[in-house]
Amino acid sequence: MKPCLYFLFLLVLAACTGPERAHEKKLRRANAKGEFILRNHDDFFYLIPPPKCRTREKYPWEKNYIGRFPKITKEFFRCKGKSSNLLHLRQEEAEREVPLFDCNGGLQHTLPVRDGIEFIYPVLIEILNYIQARTEKKVMITCGHRCPAHNSYSDPKPENQTSKHMIGAEVDFYVVGLEEAPETVLELIFRFYKENTRYRGRKEYELFCRDEKRKTDLKIPPFYNKEIYVKQYMREEGRDLDNQHSYPYLSIQVLFDREKNQRVSYSWSLAHQGFHRN
Ligand SMILES: [Zn+2]
Repeated sequence: MKPCLYFLFLLVLAACTGPERAHEKKLRRANAKGEFILRNHDDFFYLIPPPKCRTREKYPWEKNYIGRFPKITKEFFRCKGKSSNLLHLRQEEAEREVPLFDCNGGLQHTLPVRDGIEFIYPVLIEILNYIQARTEKKVMITCGHRCPAHNSYSDPKPENQTSKHMIGAEVDFYVVGLEEAPETVLELIFRFYKENTRYRGRKEYELFCRDEKRKTDLKIPPFYNKEIYVKQYMREEGRDLDNQHSYPYLSIQVLFDREKNQRVSYSWSLAHQGFHRN
């Protein structure tokens, strides 16, 4: 078809549809029925309450977080031994060398077991989570539970052989971003006891004393209340295999078991037989 004929065909088609549409519109208007809406400007079928701002509920995967960081649990306290660590030789008093092997950490044994389940003193976990929530900074646990093998391997000093790390009653840690300010973290530990309703008004927990009597190799005397004993290690103090970083750090020991209402002390049987080997 020639272009001029094609154009003519389109023109005729357009001329035919125009009057049809106008007719349809006319019919619709003639058949339409109108109705008035009778209501005032403030009448509503449903009362809409004013919107409230509320915090959304956490998604299931967010429930284990405190701020930006995962909530600290007893899993964080697993022994940090590694069987790939080289053999140590410890010099005994009688000039005898004793070989020391490291364990294989959580792959080889459990945490201390109490009443059939793995156990770390809850107050340690509570304090560390409190610090993490307050500072919004990550708490780095350098040493939680130590089995006897890893305890001897990482720090063979005789005074360390009764460490409470072996019974799940001691933790060493620092806070990332506050590495050089352990005093700030110490303040938070004191505040934990002042703010927690469980301890409020109980002076034996709220008040911390300084342990000036006990001979330690620390520049700063430790602090204690009824439940815990806190040591502050400076940059050159308290170095062992688990604390080979160059930061000052804090160590918390449990002195009193709130649940069982008794003192917490090291015992050979708890340290050596109180966990399962895989
Ligand atoms: Zn171990």
